[in-house]
Amino acid sequence: MQVTREMFNDVMVPNYNPAAFIPVKGQGSRVWDQKGDEYIDLAGGIAVNALGHCHPELVAALKEQGEKLWHLSNVFTNEPAIRLAKKLTDATFADRVYFANSGAESNEAALKLARRYALDHFGENKDQIISFKQGFHGRTFFTVTVGGQTAYSDGFGPKPGAVDHAEYNDLEGLKAIMSDRTCAVMMEPLQGEGGIISPTPEFVKGVRELCDQYNALLIFDEVQSGIGRTGELYAYMGLGVAPDILSTAKALGGGFPIGAMLTTAKIAESLKPGTHGSTYGGNPLACAVAERCFDIVNTKEVLDGVKHKEQLFRDGLAAINEKYNVFEEVRGKGLLLGAALKEEYKGRARDFLVAATEQKLMCLVAGANVVRFAPSLVVTDEDIKEGLARFERAVEKVVNG
Ligand SMILES: *Cc1c(COP(=O)(O)O)cnc(C)c1O
Repeated sequence: MQVTREMFNDVMVPNYNPAAFIPVKGQGSRVWDQKGDEYIDLAGGIAVNALGHCHPELVAALKEQGEKLWHLSNVFTNEPAIRLAKKLTDATFADRVYFANSGAESNEAALKLARRYALDHFGENKDQIISFKQGFHGRTFFTVTVGGQTAYSDGFGPKPGAVDHAEYNDLEGLKAIMSDRTCAVMMEPLQGEGGIISPTPEFVKGVRELCDQYNALLIFDEVQSGIGRTGELYAYMGLGVAPDILSTAKALGGGFPIGAMLTTAKIAESLKPGTHGSTYGGNPLACAVAERCFDIVNTKEVLDGVKHKEQLFRDGLAAINEKYNVFEEVRGKGLLLGAALKEEYKGRARDFLVAATEQKLMCLVAGANVVRFAPSLVVTDEDIKEGLARFERAVEKVVNG
């Protein structure tokens, strides 16, 4: 069957509006479309392809497990799931893991656990969940309600209740709405979709202290910031503040769908048998690939490499800005970087993305004012250089029309 982009509109629900070309093959940070045109991928499947496309080790893990055992359901456990959970708990604050299939599902589990833990230990009235404006936590109805963008949550009927929002990086604002009724505070330790916004160290420390003061759980949504993205295995490790619950997905499977919720032994107690579950969660195929991905990412070589590559991006983007004067600042950490547009270009991030596509470069936006880069953590220096050369041509096109 001859497949075309036009067919998409005839057979798909119109909630996405994908690019005009259809990729058919990827290797490392290069992607080829149906016509054989070669793209540089600095989008990384939205911070998912931690090791690029078709990394030989991940392909091998997928093939090995693919010939052994694909799926059982949680009526049975399996070796890859237990091994991956052991590695995640050994490497983090957590003692227990719940596996899901996506970021939203991991957050859904985190929120349900927080509510149940509060009920178990403090009674019915402790149900308030506080999160932050511009925050993003997924597209299930609970997570989209907790997320801080009404554009995503309105128009679907009555929302789950007892959810309030504060301003990110405004400790006083949070303090004003917190009380003994607060069950949990959920935040991204580096806001991704909201525009690549880092928390101040004082803010993160203050949020932790407020949670402790009111017996509220602190949930870090590390779906985008986790798995080496910031140059630390998890972003919280660079902030000196540990959460009570952490969600991880996106890069966890290096492109194979998987998510996880991590927590302490004491809090985990509240998800007793039957309280929550998933048919696919902890599937052996997903866990085998994620385990191999984790082994590679959680090394000094890869994590230090992220810091080095961040500098290449910052230097390259600064050089482009010298010439074209389009960015107000470049923000973020590691390989989750946002070039925030100057006043004159506000609202036009998509124009830069479209121009980049014409130059055979894949990148992302984060809101209307920020061009986002979230490439493979092992993208080569050469691909960064060539990618930024293409980006410069795109910037030139937008600036000079
Ligand atoms: C992408 C993202 C999610 C949602 O993940 P899905 O796998 O799309 O459900 C949740 N939180 C953050 C911070 C994200 O970046």
